[in-house]
Amino acid sequence: RSVPVMDIDFTNTTMDVFLNETIHPCLTQAQKCFIVTANPEIVMATRHNARFKETVQSADHVLPDGIGIINAAKMQGTPIDERICGVDVMHHLLAHAAENGYSVFFIGAQEASNKKAVEKAREKYPGLIVAGRSHGYADLYDEAFVRTVVEAKPDIILVALGMMKQEGWIRDHIDRFDKGVFMGVGGSFDVLSG
Ligand code: UDP
Repeated sequence: RSVPVMDIDFTNTTMDVFLNETIHPCLTQAQKCFIVTANPEIVMATRHNARFKETVQSADHVLPDGIGIINAAKMQGTPIDERICGVDVMHHLLAHAAENGYSVFFIGAQEASNKKAVEKAREKYPGLIVAGRSHGYADLYDEAFVRTVVEAKPDIILVALGMMKQEGWIRDHIDRFDKGVFMGVGGSFDVLSG
């Protein structure tokens, strides 16, 4: 089920259903999934950037992150069930990963923030398997770096480079992986580390 808002098809579901019927099976079956959590800022950016628009449209799921999306859908007469915040999805993913032995790769933010975010995630979600981590100011298109991430075979790849950059990196590299839930998480590592 989806609802189009300004040419973007938003997944119309609840957090519970999304996790239980989409994300958990994707992890169990070692499949791939590209999630974009889109707020109005992201939707506006797609209007000015055709490539970014294609990237967002290529995602498996675009989640309505922001009351502006919910309101726009309602005004169109095609209401969306629930606002789903990217940061909430991230926490659910981390909790689920820790409970079920899935590994997570953390890409993005300043080195100190990235390191601290990983430490906090480990404290908050005991048993969490960290497949690897990298700050977001290295050359993330460098073949050696990409190979490191691919060879770590992470189940979940969180990319915190800010909108556009993070979705661009996922778009450009997801084909290299055999499995993985990929999600751009914006400034979430800065929040998690703080
Ligand atoms: N960032 C990064 N590399 C870059 C640009 C940004 O790692 O080349 C990080 C930055 O340190 C911050 C996050 O990306 O942690 C961007 O956060 P912001 O709140 O601007 O993103 P938004 O949530 O607005 O998309």
